[in-house]
Amino acid sequence: MALNEATAHDLSTRLQNREATARELIQATLDRIDAVDGQINAYISVDATGALAQADAIDQRRERGEPLGPLAGIPLALKDVLCVRGGRTTCGSRILENYIAPYDATAVARLRDADAVFVGKTNMDEFAMGSSCENSYFGPTRNPRDPERVPGGSSGGAAAAVAADATVLALGTDTGGSVRQPAGYCGVVGLKPTYGRVSRYGLVAYASSLDQIGPVTKDVEDAALLLQACAGYDPRDSTSIDAPVPDYRAELKNGVQGLKIGLAQEHFPAALDDEIAAAAHSAARALAEAGAEIIDLELPIAGHPEYCIGTYYLIAMGEASANLSRYDGIKYGHRTADSTDLQELYFQSRSEGFGAEVKRRIMLGTYALSAGYYDAYYRKAQQVRTLIREDFARAFAACDILLSPVAPTTAFRLGEQLDDPLQMYLNDIYTASVNLAGIPGISVPFATGADALPIGVQLLAPPLQEARLLRMAHALEQCAA
Ligand code: GLN
Repeated sequence: MALNEATAHDLSTRLQNREATARELIQATLDRIDAVDGQINAYISVDATGALAQADAIDQRRERGEPLGPLAGIPLALKDVLCVRGGRTTCGSRILENYIAPYDATAVARLRDADAVFVGKTNMDEFAMGSSCENSYFGPTRNPRDPERVPGGSSGGAAAAVAADATVLALGTDTGGSVRQPAGYCGVVGLKPTYGRVSRYGLVAYASSLDQIGPVTKDVEDAALLLQACAGYDPRDSTSIDAPVPDYRAELKNGVQGLKIGLAQEHFPAALDDEIAAAAHSAARALAEAGAEIIDLELPIAGHPEYCIGTYYLIAMGEASANLSRYDGIKYGHRTADSTDLQELYFQSRSEGFGAEVKRRIMLGTYALSAGYYDAYYRKAQQVRTLIREDFARAFAACDILLSPVAPTTAFRLGEQLDDPLQMYLNDIYTASVNLAGIPGISVPFATGADALPIGVQLLAPPLQEARLLRMAHALEQCAA
């Protein structure tokens, strides 16, 4: 097996044992990017020179016997919504095409301290708005398992890069499913931590009350390793949680004996694709054989697409319309060459800089927040959000983990849903409610469907129970087909 095909935990041991050098591993990864990225377009930028220099520095420090971080020499790709000091951060948008971040995001700084090697920035739906990675100014990413299919979104580049062995680790962001759904479509692991578990400082905001950074990896142990390195309190993010970070990896092998898994009947409507329902049910059976107990329960609000999708998109679009008002052509980002007064400069810069989906959301979000409509839309959505949160809390009084599909289908074809935004939004029926409630969720590749496309299974846990979630995910991975 080529070096770049291995997991981070395996590579870490091999690097420590001097069976390989960081330079060899990074070179193998860069070669792989060269070989495949022309076809899949997972990267917006690749920093070969910087990555090799970082790798050499790590090899030299190892030679000298200096202490190294837990991810020393491991290639890591960052979704292009995370600021890296001195590097371009585009958010997949023309408006930030040439934006150079003056500082590191906290998660990035922590990974730098862990000695991970940054190989590049991955493609994404513009400002993380989308479920297919087709809304990027830099062109769509393709699914490495079938290039005619989308990789999912919005962290499609991160999931495709990991699935294609064009990086070992990646960091994505998940506002309504953007780590878990692309992980499901590409057959890799995607973890969305509890809201506030990973600092959002230096993450370009989409919907601030929902955004969370999360690992995209080849297996569950790597997800634990990567979360470990970036989780924890950060005074620069007032919503970050001041709670100790457990040793996630140590808890992985504790098994699932006695844990209760809840299946919500609302997650399995009669119209659900047979292969998606069958994968989730067989995952539950496999975990039962491993010692877990399965119980049936109800999620009358959180399990209902009508409530969840409407609530999620109202809140996400409202917050997006406020967050994106900072791109005005003056402070930074694209400025039109073509204006005669200030009003026109704002208008033209934004018209030229934003793509169609972003504009749609700014308009809908502004509408939902405007005087006269606020009560009917935004406030109502916040009220339903509370009910969704309470619904999950009730379910977790009866079970330890919830199990559901990740998405209602496997990866669809490029172009298939682009003309139908509502259909595109419905991809998020299993994931968006999780962000509304702020709880952690993980997507684990479990089965293979028609056309050899991967099918993921989603596990959910109460707030801050990532250790339990990872432990269950690890057990599920052991039984995957
Ligand atoms: N598909 C959802 C949206 O478009 C989720 C995106 C995300 O999680 N960033 O808003």
